[in-house]
Amino acid sequence: MTTHGGRVAVVHHRCPTAHRTWAAAARCQWKRAVWVTGEGCWGVHAPCGHGATITLHADYYAAADALGFIDRLGCGHSCQPRTHVLFQMDKITTGRPR
Ligand SMILES: [Zn+2]
Ligand SMILES: [Zn+2]
Repeated sequence: MTTHGGRVAVVHHRCPTAHRTWAAAARCQWKRAVWVTGEGCWGVHAPCGHGATITLHADYYAAADALGFIDRLGCGHSCQPRTHVLFQMDKITTGRPR
């Protein structure tokens, strides 16, 4: 198990739309993201290169692993590792999807 030891950004997504999945909420939250992949309320936000990329995960450890991976190997762009942010999305307005 990996823990990243850094801060976790809590993303409060508030909008009138009832998103059925975390991925849909993430796409709404980061409208300019190049892509959103995965599913879950934990994720890694990499605002690098031509646009942000979001990977979603079911739990903290999976997200921390993903963050460690792009911090070590790079995300394909010449950015500082700490540009990448581990986040947890707050509950979607209509409640947590299955
Ligand atoms: Zn939304
Ligand atoms: Zn990067």
